[in-house]
Amino acid sequence: MPELPEVETTRRGVAPHVVGHRIARFVIYDGRLRWPVPHSLPKQVEGRKIEAVDRRSKYLLFRLDGGTLLVHLGMTGSLRLHRDTPPRRPHDHIDIALDNGVTLRYHDPRRFGAMLWVVDEDRHPLLTRLGPEPFDPAFSADYLYAHTRGRRASIKVTLMDNHAVVGVGNIYANESLFRAGIRPATPAGRVSRPRLSCLVEAVREVLAEAITKGGSTLRDFVDSRGEPGSFQLDYRVYGREGLPCRVCRTPIRATRIGQRASFHCPRCQAR
Ligand SMILES: [Zn+2]
Repeated sequence: MPELPEVETTRRGVAPHVVGHRIARFVIYDGRLRWPVPHSLPKQVEGRKIEAVDRRSKYLLFRLDGGTLLVHLGMTGSLRLHRDTPPRRPHDHIDIALDNGVTLRYHDPRRFGAMLWVVDEDRHPLLTRLGPEPFDPAFSADYLYAHTRGRRASIKVTLMDNHAVVGVGNIYANESLFRAGIRPATPAGRVSRPRLSCLVEAVREVLAEAITKGGSTLRDFVDSRGEPGSFQLDYRVYGREGLPCRVCRTPIRATRIGQRASFHCPRCQAR
């Protein structure tokens, strides 16, 4: 599933080729995504200029003059740029042809993605009530401290909740908690302020490493074949059950928290 680093890498790869250009043609081959792609979408976006490509949580926001084209990659979605548009492959659902000859093609085998027209971002149900971005100064130790006091839910579940902070998926939550020395099952309300401060830094560090790695594995977004790989960090705990901790050699333990696989070092992440 594309996580925040993959979405951010897509944004960085796509933006330089599309910003400043107008949408000449918007073609829906199969609009049965998570929500049906509105039939009116081509009429709404054709002729409009892409002024910026931004990201909020895992949503790509193509800011056009007069509204925003919101794109979510769902579980298996990807965007590719083509100068010479190849024949459609199975699961190529949408083509966005620009006035510079570049086509942005949306591919999504499982069709859990989304493509919607948003006029008022501040009132759109998908975008309101999202927590801060992990790289935004609003995501701070003070904020996290205030947000978590009195909470009995585990710190891991809290970290993965979009109301606390957006874009921290299961792998990144596991890795961040290890780096911050916090056991994943600890009730969020009982994590000390200094630990939360470490956690904020760890989240940023882990995501930034994944984004850097993603950028390096995906040098050219244009006419590249295949899908963007998953940007695997050298995981310290994730998927390492029974293997020695990279810091203290204690075997990594696996548990389930909120139905998700969780990994921790019993020694580095003491209670
Ligand atoms: Zn350890």
